[in-house]
Amino acid sequence: MSKDKKCVLCKTEIFLKYKLQSLNSDIFECPACGLAALSPLNINDNTYNENYYYFSNYKKSAVFDDICKGRRLARYLKKYFPNSRKIFDVGAAAGIALNELKNCGFEVSGLEISRAGVMLAEKLFDIKLIQSNIEKYSEKINCDVLIMTDVLEHTINPIDTLKKICNLLDSGAGIIIEAPNYSSFYRKLIGSHWVGFNKFHNYHFNDRVLTNILENVGFEVIAKFTANFNILSIEGLWRLGLKDLLKRILKKNSLSKEEDSAAKKKEEIILLSKSELIFYKILNDLKALINLPLNYLSEKLMMGDQLWIIARKK
Ligand SMILES: [Zn+2]
Repeated sequence: MSKDKKCVLCKTEIFLKYKLQSLNSDIFECPACGLAALSPLNINDNTYNENYYYFSNYKKSAVFDDICKGRRLARYLKKYFPNSRKIFDVGAAAGIALNELKNCGFEVSGLEISRAGVMLAEKLFDIKLIQSNIEKYSEKINCDVLIMTDVLEHTINPIDTLKKICNLLDSGAGIIIEAPNYSSFYRKLIGSHWVGFNKFHNYHFNDRVLTNILENVGFEVIAKFTANFNILSIEGLWRLGLKDLLKRILKKNSLSKEEDSAAKKKEEIILLSKSELIFYKILNDLKALINLPLNYLSEKLMMGDQLWIIARKK
C-alpha cells in the first residue's frame, strides 16, 4: 500500500508514521529528508470557502493570538529587514496580524482565498485584499518582504508554491514563513494527538526540511526560530491529553454543541476591547513567565510548536 508513495521533495519512498484515527487519514514521513505528508492529501478547492472553520468560530483568544503574531512579525521585520516598507501577506485571513503591521507604519497588501476573510479585512481594518490563492496568482509581487503564516502546510505541493513565490519576487526581497513545527516536543511526546495534525494540514516541516526547500528554490535562509512551548501551562496540560479525555467523557454533549454552532454559523469577528486586550496581555505575560526556563530550552533545541523561518531571494 505504501510502496508507491514518494516524497515530493527528494523522491525517496515514504513510510507510515501515524494513523490519524479521528480523521481517517495517515501521516507518512520521508526517512531521507524528514518531510511529512498527510495521506490522502486534502485537495478539495472548496475547503476554504465561507464556511471554513477559521471564520465561523473565531474566539477572542484567537483574535489575540493573531495580534501577537502581527507583533512578532513587526519585530522580525525591524530586526532582519530594517529598511522594509511594503509587506505582502499570502493568506492574510481576516487581516488581524496585517493590521498590526499597518499600525506600525508598514504599507500592507496581500491575498486571501476566502471571500469571508477578504470582506472582514476590509470591514474591520480597511485593508483591501485580493481574493485568490498564490497558486492562481500570476502578477509580479512588488514588496520588500512577503509573509506567509499558517499557509504552507495547507498547500498541495509546498515546493511548487515556494518556487512560484520566488519567481514572482524581486531579487533581494525577504520572506517570513510560519508553520507548525514537526520537530516539536509535543509532537514527539503525544504523537498522533499533536495539535499540528488536522484534515487541513497536508505537509509538516521542521527547520531542516524548510531550509532545504527554500534553498532549493532560490532563497537564502537568514534566521530560524521556534515558539510556543508552554508545557507547564494549562494549555500545555490541555494538549497533553486532557482535552481528548474530556471530549471522550462529554462526547454526546460536544457533538450536539458542534451541530448547534454549525447551524448558527456567520462570518463575524468580535474584536477585543481595550480592557480585554490588557487582560489577554497580562495572561500571556504570566504564561511566558511560568514557561521562561522551558521556553529557553525549547528555543535552543528548536522544539517549540511554531516554526518561523526568515529568508531572502538570492
Ligand atoms: Zn524526502
